[in-house]
Amino acid sequence: MKMTGKLKQKRKTHLTLMVVPDDTGKIISVKLGAGLFLSIMALWLCSVVVSAYVISRHVDYRATKAYDRFLNQKHQEFAKEMLEMRDSVKRTVEIDSQLRDLLQLKSKNAVIKYTGFGGPSYLDTKLLEKSVKDGDEVISRKAFELAVRYVDEQSKYSEKSFQQIIQYITEQRSRLTAVPSGWPVKGWITAAFGSRIDPFTGSLSFHAGVDIANDIATPIKTTADGVVTFAELDHGGYGNLVTINHGNGYMTKYAHLLKIIVSPGQHVKKGQVIAYLGTTGRSTAPHLHYEIKLNGAAVSPVKYLNKEVALK
Ligand SMILES: [Zn+2]
Repeated sequence: MKMTGKLKQKRKTHLTLMVVPDDTGKIISVKLGAGLFLSIMALWLCSVVVSAYVISRHVDYRATKAYDRFLNQKHQEFAKEMLEMRDSVKRTVEIDSQLRDLLQLKSKNAVIKYTGFGGPSYLDTKLLEKSVKDGDEVISRKAFELAVRYVDEQSKYSEKSFQQIIQYITEQRSRLTAVPSGWPVKGWITAAFGSRIDPFTGSLSFHAGVDIANDIATPIKTTADGVVTFAELDHGGYGNLVTINHGNGYMTKYAHLLKIIVSPGQHVKKGQVIAYLGTTGRSTAPHLHYEIKLNGAAVSPVKYLNKEVALK
């Protein structure tokens, strides 16, 4: 019986909180059960955790706001650079237009058709310009997009257009360099173009070129770009002869040569040395017989000799 009684005894644990105020010295003491104490402690812990969470969220928010401000500032800087690029592209397009006017290129429309696929115009970029001017905190994505597309498409247009201008100038230049001009060798004309008394037969004959006299072995230069069609030693009365085809109906002939240094099929440039002055064939003294043919007919070389094309 005694043993059972002892077992039934419950050990109750209490905690006593004592508050001792300074002034009165009267002690306030509160007796708390262990369960209640633990509950209070748990509540306190919860409130600490929740507060920490709320504070950390607030810190995050401030950081995000700061980052937002940084991004907006970057957008502003980018927008300004974008506008500078746009103006530079616009100037390039204007220069292109002036160049075309100067060259009187008529195919401008074809080029615009090729690259102009209805993209944003310069006016569409005013949206971005306004945002920058107003110092908008947030610049719309559309404003950026329009400006970027304008710069992109106009740049592509300019690139194509300049390529076409280069091609045009190259063609013009090659057309000019393909027309005989200047002297194949400096010297004095000893026989003019046209009818004359043949020095060998004594009868009237047609002289299809001009004779230019100079020292033997003086270098002879071609008077236009072209392809060598004939380069033969001892070609009848012509002696050693070179013929060059320049395209556009022009051909030149160089006769009585001492030495030939080009061969058939070879491309030659205006001013390139092709042979040396001689007196081969029907010739009485060192000279070059120089002929120009236009569409198969011999023409007087005089006006071509005195025409210099300044290309370099
Ligand atoms: Zn001659």
